[in-house]
Amino acid sequence: MTGRVQGVGFRPAVYKIARSLNLSGIVYNDTKGVTVESQGEAENISEFLTRLQSGADKPPLAEITSCEVVDIPVIESETEFVIEMSDANGTPLSQVTADIATCRDCLSEMADKEDFRYGYPFINCTNCGPRYSIVKTIPYDRPNTTMSVFKMCDKCAAQYKDVRDRRFHAQPVACSACGPQILLMDNTGKSISTQTERVIAETAKLLMAGKIIAIKGIGGFHLAVDALNSQAVQLLRRRKKRDHKPFALMAASIERIKEYALVDRAAGQILSSPQSPIVLLPKKPDSQIAPSVAEGVSTYGFMLCYAPLHYLLFAQNIKVLVMTSGNISDEPLICKNDKALERLGDVADAFLMHDREIYRQVDDSILHFVDEQPAFLRRARGYVPTPILMEKSCRADIFAAGADLKNTFCFARQNQLICSEHIGDLEDAEVYHHYIDSVEHLRGLFEVEPKIVVCDLHPGYVSTRYALSMPDADIIQVQHHWAHIASVLVEHGLEGPVIGLSADGTGYGTDGAIWGCECLIASLEKFERFGHLSYYSLAGGDKASKEAIRPVLSLLMKAYGSKFTLEKFDWLLERIEPDKGRPETIFEQLEKGINCVETSSLGRVFDAVAAILGLGNYNHFDAQLPMALEAVAAPNIDDYYQIESFSPPGEPHRFGIAKTFRQLISDVQTGIDAGVISAKFHNTISEILRGFAVICRSETKLNTVAMSGGVFCNRYLINRIVNLLKQDGFSVLLNRNVPSNDGGIALGQASIAAKLTPHDL
Ligand code: ZN
Ligand code: ZN
Ligand code: FE
Repeated sequence: MTGRVQGVGFRPAVYKIARSLNLSGIVYNDTKGVTVESQGEAENISEFLTRLQSGADKPPLAEITSCEVVDIPVIESETEFVIEMSDANGTPLSQVTADIATCRDCLSEMADKEDFRYGYPFINCTNCGPRYSIVKTIPYDRPNTTMSVFKMCDKCAAQYKDVRDRRFHAQPVACSACGPQILLMDNTGKSISTQTERVIAETAKLLMAGKIIAIKGIGGFHLAVDALNSQAVQLLRRRKKRDHKPFALMAASIERIKEYALVDRAAGQILSSPQSPIVLLPKKPDSQIAPSVAEGVSTYGFMLCYAPLHYLLFAQNIKVLVMTSGNISDEPLICKNDKALERLGDVADAFLMHDREIYRQVDDSILHFVDEQPAFLRRARGYVPTPILMEKSCRADIFAAGADLKNTFCFARQNQLICSEHIGDLEDAEVYHHYIDSVEHLRGLFEVEPKIVVCDLHPGYVSTRYALSMPDADIIQVQHHWAHIASVLVEHGLEGPVIGLSADGTGYGTDGAIWGCECLIASLEKFERFGHLSYYSLAGGDKASKEAIRPVLSLLMKAYGSKFTLEKFDWLLERIEPDKGRPETIFEQLEKGINCVETSSLGRVFDAVAAILGLGNYNHFDAQLPMALEAVAAPNIDDYYQIESFSPPGEPHRFGIAKTFRQLISDVQTGIDAGVISAKFHNTISEILRGFAVICRSETKLNTVAMSGGVFCNRYLINRIVNLLKQDGFSVLLNRNVPSNDGGIALGQASIAAKLTPHDL
């Protein structure tokens, strides 16, 4: 059997069914999944097969994707059914699974006064609890986890050893007598309380009094504050030096979340899944949540409690908490007690700590809904390190370095693509060190020996430089948007070619320009640039992705040519950039081409339009302006601006937006509502992308469109394009297992390298 059958209590389940049917045999893990050899009465064998696959006896986390049955000769000497625990033929990867939210059984035990784990904040079992975040090395056994310092008491040990028990071989099993404990400290490190019930009650009291509490969870610290208390939320923003980015929220039930946000059935399912991610949900208009929790966006990021500690805390009459990652601005998430006290001492008023060490920091995962299905914005806790499977195995192990923004990296081993958790933006030195550590850790955990290293084409990426510095490996450099499209292909088990549409911020192109809005004819083997947005110029390097005035000036100059003067657009520019000298300097830079780069970036066009509509002039965090533009887009608008189409022979097809901008500016001058202009602009971009697909199909006869890139995190845009393309008869593929932003780049790189490397048959 293949699928998610390892490390989820599958072998004990097989054992139980076999015993109940009087079968003899053996069950063991191997490289592909689980193998069962069994013999007994024919009807019992067939019932065995039915029950294995039917679901009723299947452990909750298990998922069988294939089951192959073969007849073998009877083994006379065999008399009983055994679980082969040693993993002689197995890969170690089998053993390490993702961190899983507290299951129902554990929750009801925790609430049961008669149970010996009543009120215990670290209750867990085979079906739930920490895994990846506590593993130091393989094999996944207690001595190799941060639970090694806790000696199991007799009661816990008995359950751990009993194959019929829900805690059979659950490595983090513990109780209040033998396991980790919580404590509450003030921000000088002085203990306030170590008695579990008092710690919980005190913490709740402080939170309700508007205090900021650092709470140690599964993958790291959260900074928690009462989300209904506006002053407290603003205080957290100031202290955390995080002025704008929306905060994540936590509640204890879907019913509670529904008081503040719209939760449909599909969203409810994801929220309450064992992975328990943050899900972006449309805000309710009359919500009581403090406005500063999530300004300039139309959604709240909500998650349900996922650790026993969360449930105990929320049981103290807490409604909804901000639970934002415990770090300072863009630094890595903090997971160690001493570091938390040192770095967060100025942010938090108190610390709810525990003595179970977090070995791997893992952020909360974030999903949203596009085309009515869940899609990742960040893949981390709950999903990592579950591999994504390829159709074929690669012969050599591969390391894919990923991109510099929203970095993840990826290993390919046999038919498995093992993606890392979200690492972050590598330009931060601490994040970069964390990246290097993480590469080593995951490599060791999966015993990967990369012979092939694949990275981005961008010579300035630190991930590229890191990859190029790796000894004894063949290097493959992959163009950014090709990797985006490849990530979609491999997720859907395809090799291409397809029409690849990439709507993106920045990616280094084969011509040295910064690409962004691209139509590629792409397979896992090669790509051709079929079309792109007409180039415009960006001045000032990296500043151009933060300061909207830079794309604004460039796009206006492109739209009006020699007719453009700063004086004529004073009315607009002074709104965007109050310092008069700056537009002049940038204008001059653009005119003379000093420190300028040609680009087809779509992200910067969104920045420009957001700024022109008065929605801000600076990206304090990635995509702040585009998100603000999306948030105001009016519903039910079908109009769009005109676009220009160029087909120079022998060159990629190009769409231009000079006319678009002239019409858009005229709408602004007429006083048309910003929401309407935003919608028309979104619709225009949709027409461009649709145009690429239609022209590309007519020339290539390809009918499948794969779409990826950071700009497709925009739900208005992606939903509209998907609809248009479906109306036009295309089959449309999107990322579902990795983000369509740069968090998916590593997967694409790895799948291209796997294809370019000889396959086993
Ligand atoms: Zn459990
Ligand atoms: Zn115990
Ligand atoms: Fe990208």
